[in-house]
Amino acid sequence: MIDVAKARRETPGAANVLHFNNAGAGLMPATVLAAMRQHIELEAAIGGYEAADQGAAALDHAYVAVARLLNAAPDEIAVVENATRAWDMAFYSFQFQPGDRILTAQAEYASNYIAYLQVARRTGAVVEAIPNDADGQLDVAALERAIDARVKLIAITHVPTNGGLVNPAAAIGRVARRAGIPYLLDACQSVGQMPVDVEAIGCDMLSATARKFLRGPRGVGFLYVRRSLIEELEPPFLDLHAANWVAPDRYEIVPGAKRFENWETNFAGKIGLGLAVDYALGWGLEAIRDRVVHLAEHLRRRLATLPGVTVRDLGAERSGIVTFTCPGGEHDAIKQALGARRMNVSTSTRTSTQLDMTARGLGSLVRASVHYYNTEEEVDRFTEALADICRGRG
Ligand SMILES: *Cc1c(COP(=O)(O)O)cnc(C)c1O
Repeated sequence: MIDVAKARRETPGAANVLHFNNAGAGLMPATVLAAMRQHIELEAAIGGYEAADQGAAALDHAYVAVARLLNAAPDEIAVVENATRAWDMAFYSFQFQPGDRILTAQAEYASNYIAYLQVARRTGAVVEAIPNDADGQLDVAALERAIDARVKLIAITHVPTNGGLVNPAAAIGRVARRAGIPYLLDACQSVGQMPVDVEAIGCDMLSATARKFLRGPRGVGFLYVRRSLIEELEPPFLDLHAANWVAPDRYEIVPGAKRFENWETNFAGKIGLGLAVDYALGWGLEAIRDRVVHLAEHLRRRLATLPGVTVRDLGAERSGIVTFTCPGGEHDAIKQALGARRMNVSTSTRTSTQLDMTARGLGSLVRASVHYYNTEEEVDRFTEALADICRGRG
């Protein structure tokens, strides 16, 4: 069980705002904020390189912490500037040939799909989105039927940015393992709100970000690559951190997942990432998941009582991302009106998950994403405010 009062005391922002934008960026805990501030102050006081030397243990700890979170090893972790770049470093490492197939899901994230389209255009590979099952998540049986010798990669999003659902990542992993196909998981919205174990899931690569449900800083992301695959993947970019220039005409790529990194980085952010992971592990990811699911279901039930408001979430398993449409559909204006009451949500438009939103006939959605430090009282207050705003507009 989560001690919610304690979690809120340790979250400075909880006193200021009703924060249902954890899928955008979670509120940082005080420990994360303090450690980052301290490192930046040290940089200013003694010099950036000298501060990095002094902070070496805390910087190394980020790899140990992320590895513990994912049930991986520290040398299988790269820390980069965001989840997109982490995902790119894995995806663009593959050498596709004409006719190679990349299998993905309907609710795939725009940035990933744009990369598929670019690579398809460049190489003649084809990208195919596996249909959904009756629950609205990826149909694992359809995925299994789609497997043949030309499938070179399975790449899906664990928790789509909109739509509430949790894709059956472990069932997909079993299909990938049986077929011997590399499996790249975008876990940007799942890490930090539920247990994500790369062994249990069976993914070979995983990307995520610090700032969302992990409650770390902005501008930091990370990549996991299974050790057996690391040496096979040549990163799309190399620099003097990812490789060593060993002779005038020769370089050697460094061992381990650091080959996916680049030299200059946000040192305070990396320290913040490690502490944010420690903080999440301190609560326990199962306890976090249980509370998030409970609060999200409470919110869905309350929203369903509002005239004209329609909850749009799909999936057999649901996450802390709650999406809905309002009468009139002016979702940005509703977000602004909630913001004026210091209630934070985000909106999601068709272009962020084109295939899924188009298939569902949706132009935009309001996204209210809850975390364990939110309360039932906030859910009730939010629902009342939304009713009031919708009444005014209806
Ligand atoms: C936010 C998000 C990303 C991108 O993460 P960044 O850290 O902003 O690069 C990728 N995939 C999904 C599903 C997301 O929600």
